[in-house]
Amino acid sequence: MPNYALLSQGSTKINKSNTIQDEYFSRILYLAPDDLADGKRTVCPYAKIAKCNEACLNSAGMGVFSNVQQARVKKTLLFLNDRTEFMRLLIKDIGKFLKECDKLGKKPALRLNGTSDIQWENIYIGNMEQYSVDTTNLEVFDKKQLNLDCQNIFELFPQIQFYDYTKIPTRKVSHIANYHLTWSYSQANDKYASLFEKVPYNKAVVFMDALPKMFKGLKVIDGDKHDMRFLDKTNSVVGLLAKGKAKQDDTGFVIKALQVAWWGDNMKLPPNMTKEEKIVATAFFMGYTLHFDYKKVEEDEYTPRTLITVSDLKYNHDDEILVGGCINNDGDYRQFFLENMTNIQCWQKIYVET
Ligand code: SF4
Repeated sequence: MPNYALLSQGSTKINKSNTIQDEYFSRILYLAPDDLADGKRTVCPYAKIAKCNEACLNSAGMGVFSNVQQARVKKTLLFLNDRTEFMRLLIKDIGKFLKECDKLGKKPALRLNGTSDIQWENIYIGNMEQYSVDTTNLEVFDKKQLNLDCQNIFELFPQIQFYDYTKIPTRKVSHIANYHLTWSYSQANDKYASLFEKVPYNKAVVFMDALPKMFKGLKVIDGDKHDMRFLDKTNSVVGLLAKGKAKQDDTGFVIKALQVAWWGDNMKLPPNMTKEEKIVATAFFMGYTLHFDYKKVEEDEYTPRTLITVSDLKYNHDDEILVGGCINNDGDYRQFFLENMTNIQCWQKIYVET
């Protein structure tokens, strides 16, 4: 393994990514997130809006060790204070990384925002001469690119598939063929959360306790299986389980199972939910189909019903409760109609912490 100055030697998830498939090999750059490096300048402009700085992955995995934190701060200060030297080291590292991939016979994939949210598309590279990187023995460099006035790192290394998560909803990178972004969702801020339908990228959502099958109408894929987000199907929600300090998050950045199941959106749970209510809500969240027999208030007979998604928890136009706890048109909470349900078939299968 090469001795990198900036890139990380590995992380559990990256190592997993590198073994789970044969095509790509990946490395990652970890910096100190938000304004952690000097308390003033941020490398995550949306961290406070999305309220993700407390629950940041910076505290997960190797990030628990103080020497790792110190190294991240040092690298970030270099990025902030001496951009030319930082880019020189990064370009040198990338040269080594390309050699590593060459040896392994794998395609290179790089994630530069492991724990930062830098808009690399705007970090100007210019001509390579200023970086005094000796590229004569680095045949992995695309010589044609070396003579260009490169706008950014993506242009200098067209042979690399770059990818990142971002909290910045306004980033426009679709014109960059070798850069893939996944937007990282948070419900900590209503305005930010309302961008879910507008942002054109896949959405990463951090869940507290389990991954649902669907979220806001999109299929949820398990984002913890590997890290190579550019391989994901478009129009997906990338579900990630909370790690490190995120497990204690209460800002809305980490989505709680019952919260989604019950409301399907960003409302708070009703107070004093019964065990049965929690069970039904959890069933939806876990993607269970809920079979039960239901009796309308004015009728005596029970009729079988099957609910497939949480969106079935609605009133009809006559303000008649179909089933479930939901909000009426005036925004009022209506009680879950459990007393009119019988023979509910998924109750035994769901574990609910009470
Ligand atoms: S979650 Fe992302 S944007 Fe938020 S502080 Fe961490 S690295 Fe920065």
